[in-house]
Amino acid sequence: MESRSIPVYEKILKANDYVARQNRQLFEASGVTVVGLLGAPGSGKTSLLERTLEHFTRNGLRAAVLVGDLATARDAQRLARFDAKAVQLTTGGACHLEAQQVHEALAEINLADLDYLFIENVGNLVCPAAYYLGEHVRVVILSVAEGDDKVAKYPTIMRSAQALVLNKIDLLDWLDFDERRIREDVHALNPGLRILRLSCRTGTGIEDWIEYLEQVRGRTNRA
Ligand code: MG
Ligand code: ZN
Repeated sequence: MESRSIPVYEKILKANDYVARQNRQLFEASGVTVVGLLGAPGSGKTSLLERTLEHFTRNGLRAAVLVGDLATARDAQRLARFDAKAVQLTTGGACHLEAQQVHEALAEINLADLDYLFIENVGNLVCPAAYYLGEHVRVVILSVAEGDDKVAKYPTIMRSAQALVLNKIDLLDWLDFDERRIREDVHALNPGLRILRLSCRTGTGIEDWIEYLEQVRGRTNRA
C-alpha cells in the first residue's frame, strides 16, 4: 500500500507544475516581476514586505501582494496601509500555497498595472519547496535567531531558491550565530544562491535588497 502513495504525490506535483506554468505565462504576458517569499514563522516575511512597500510607495513603484497563512487575515491587514493591493490567501490549515490558489487569487489583481507581485508563502521551510507557483525568483528568509544550521537542515528549499535573506542581523551580537557556517553550507548546496544581510527593524541592508529586486526586474522584464 505504501508504494502507491508516491505516484499519487507525484501526480499532485505534476498538476501543480502545470498550473504554475500557466501562472508564469500570465506574469510574462503582463510584464510583472514575481517574487516568492519563503521562510519559517517569525523569520520576517511580512516585515520585509512592509519595508519593501514603504520604499515602493515613496518611489512610485506599483506592487501587489498575495499573503498565505493558515488562518487570520492579519498579514494582509498589516500591509493594507500601503498603496498596494494585498490579498490574503487563507489555506484553512494547509501548510503551503499551491499554484491553483495563486491562480484563483490573480482574478482579484490587475497584473498589467503592476511592476512587482510578491507571494508570501505560509511560514514553513519544508513543503513550500516542492510547490512551484510560477514566480520568477524564490527568496528564502532566515532570521539569524533561528540558528546557523538551517541551510544544511533544509537543503531542498535552499536549492529551490535564488536568494537567501539573513534577517535580524541587528541581533548578531547577542547570538552564537556563525555566518561563515551559513556561507559554507550555501556554497556546498547552491553556490549561485545570493546572500543578502539585512534588518527589517533597523533598515540596515534594505537598499541592497531593493537593488536586488531591481536586478531581478531587469532580467525578467525586457520589454
Ligand atoms: Mg507573514
Ligand atoms: Zn505543506
